[in-house]
Amino acid sequence: MYDAPQVSTPTHCPYCALQCGMNLRSLPGAGVGVEERADFPVNRGALCGKGRTAAAVLDARVRLGGPLVRSARSGELEPATWSEALAAVAEGLGRARGAYGADAVGVFGGGGLTNEKAYTLGKFARLVLGTSQIDYNGRFCMSSAAAAHHRAFGLDRGLPFPLEDIPRTGCVILVGSNLAETMPPALRYLTELKENGGKLIVVDPRRTRTAEQADLHLAPRPGTDLALALGLLHLVVAEGRVDEAFVEERTEGWEAARAGAMAHWPEHVERITGVAVPQLRDAVRMFCDAPSGMVLTARGPEQQSKGTDTVGAWINLCLATGRAGRPLSGYGCLTGQGNGQGGREHGQKADQLPGYRKLDDPAARAHVAQVWGVPPESLPGPGRSAYELLDALGGDIKALLLMGSNPVVSAPRAAHVEERLRSLDFLAVADVVLSETAALADVVLPVTQWAEETGTTTNLEGRVLLRRRAITPPDGVRTDLEVLHALAALLGWEKGFPTDPEEVFDELRRASAGGPADYSGISYRRIAEEDGVFWPCPEPDHPGTPRLFLDRFATPDGRARFVPVVHRDSAEETDETYPIVLTTGRVVAQYQSGAQTRRVEELNAAAPGPFVELHPRLAARLGVTEGQDVTVVSRRGRAVAPARVTTAIRADTVFMPFHWPGEGRANTLTNPALDPTSKMPEFKVCAVRLEAGSGT
Ligand code: SF4
Repeated sequence: MYDAPQVSTPTHCPYCALQCGMNLRSLPGAGVGVEERADFPVNRGALCGKGRTAAAVLDARVRLGGPLVRSARSGELEPATWSEALAAVAEGLGRARGAYGADAVGVFGGGGLTNEKAYTLGKFARLVLGTSQIDYNGRFCMSSAAAAHHRAFGLDRGLPFPLEDIPRTGCVILVGSNLAETMPPALRYLTELKENGGKLIVVDPRRTRTAEQADLHLAPRPGTDLALALGLLHLVVAEGRVDEAFVEERTEGWEAARAGAMAHWPEHVERITGVAVPQLRDAVRMFCDAPSGMVLTARGPEQQSKGTDTVGAWINLCLATGRAGRPLSGYGCLTGQGNGQGGREHGQKADQLPGYRKLDDPAARAHVAQVWGVPPESLPGPGRSAYELLDALGGDIKALLLMGSNPVVSAPRAAHVEERLRSLDFLAVADVVLSETAALADVVLPVTQWAEETGTTTNLEGRVLLRRRAITPPDGVRTDLEVLHALAALLGWEKGFPTDPEEVFDELRRASAGGPADYSGISYRRIAEEDGVFWPCPEPDHPGTPRLFLDRFATPDGRARFVPVVHRDSAEETDETYPIVLTTGRVVAQYQSGAQTRRVEELNAAAPGPFVELHPRLAARLGVTEGQDVTVVSRRGRAVAPARVTTAIRADTVFMPFHWPGEGRANTLTNPALDPTSKMPEFKVCAVRLEAGSGT
């Protein structure tokens, strides 16, 4: 294994997709401290509170210290040895497979798993278990953007350009991202953009800390971003701002997309979105007057039942104005989870094989099967998407192995998902803490954390990074790779599941060779020496590819595709019973389901619990003031949290962060209606009614 000597160990944050660089220094006595690492270009030393406090979760007082097995006698999780726990998992999964067939066993992964773990988990599911039923929580993160990216450009990499290009572009339209809270060190790219004379347009129903930085803030009603993008494209055409030469030379399908946009008159778009026509005109002028431009989306437009088409509408705007496939221009997605990018490339998705290959492509199957040393026909076909898989628990799927995810808090219609998890014959969870999902398991396997193991992640730019082991893990835990190796052996696969991450990475390189996400020229040594390598990188002497699409798009003919899209309602619109729109999101001091960050004292002090953000007019109508309980009711359940009254949100909309379980769990309310292409649930829009008080 490559292991250069270090005084302090350079590595990367365990949380979001920015993957900030940091140094870990061993502290006198025990433990490790996080230090700034100014030489890593992405964050240049800056860390948010989550990164600064990341070492707190390594503390034995907050983490799991040994395996737990549910006792048949007491019904409680009780300490067990590793051999007992692994044998129980092999037995639980094997029993379901023997009684009901391979597809009765499900596997659920996570966008925080390293590339090596995601790769091995996919291989384990398809070879050892023989199941098609594997997907992961990244489906809930960026799947709509990935689908739209593929459709338009033939390839999905979150950002097809490095972050360092953002300050040098002319205008950025940031759609549904509050990066001042979700990835604070990235805010400087927007600050520098403005210092350089560039313009920033933020699209968000809330006046967030990010929107406060904007030259123009458009606040559409949640679920209407698609109409907004169509309205802008309509004006681009009407005002003669189409880049005809670019459209002619580098795209296909413009006429149908143009016709779709021309059906969306600005006044009509104003009625749908609530954004006034003069603001639409201002946005078009700002974007088209700039010499170059970018559109960046995040979960706002993506987590909708029309998320793929919504992102497609923003891509159409880029293509029509010539803002794609050119220096300092393009469309990009700000991926959320730590390895949200790499996690979707290496085979833990229901429909994909390593290297971002399609599972139903015979050539892809043949290539990966050859690397794995099995006949192609032995590989199962595509399985269910994440929510569909969770919904099938206790039905077709009788047993589940879950790694690095906490769907009891993070899945839509969470009470139903919790009930499905409880209905399983057998549930095994591998995690670092006793999450709300792990607490339901028959067996809990405690695993090592970021600072205790080596592995690669791929950040939101497509930059492959090396997380290094800085400290020795406690005796009671094992790495996920060791867990999968041991389970494979118990289930009859003595070989093929190495525990050395570099050995896994070298196999992953071979499996990805020639695929869309080609890692074959990337090695641990290169990543360490170059501080990251951008894929695709097909040869050891290839420099990597920070910027995609400059000469051609990744479609067979090299031309980008316009996709005609039209506005449609959200799956659930408001009515007399549920007259308000709920939208959800994150706060700066918590991360995703909060399984780790809720265990950090400093973060909990900053963000101790959920809240309902609502406009003063709505609060007055309801008769509640700041801090009083509000009950939010949707067709799926109710949640209670204190009111946070602010003019920073539309009067027809309320916002809840989704990091907490219990009575304030926002995802009790959210709608699992799926985008037909990406299978993304509609987290960002559902109809609710409000009641003053907690209803008790
Ligand atoms: Fe970690 Fe993201 Fe914060 Fe950077 S912005 S320190 S990667 S959580």
